[in-house]
Amino acid sequence: MAKKALLEYVCQSCGAVYPKWQGKCDSCGQWNSIVEEKVEQSGFPF
Ligand SMILES: [Zn+2]
Repeated sequence: MAKKALLEYVCQSCGAVYPKWQGKCDSCGQWNSIVEEKVEQSGFPF
C-alpha cells in the first residue's frame, strides 16, 4: 500500500507555497527559488 504523500512547492526566498512548480515566484518575483517539498500526512489513522 502506498503511503499518501503530498508535494508542495515552496519559495525559498519568501516562503510562498504553490500546489504546482513554477519557474518564477508570483509573490516575490524571484526566479528558480521554488523547491519541491514532500509533506507526509501524519496523525491520520487510515
Ligand atoms: Zn517568493
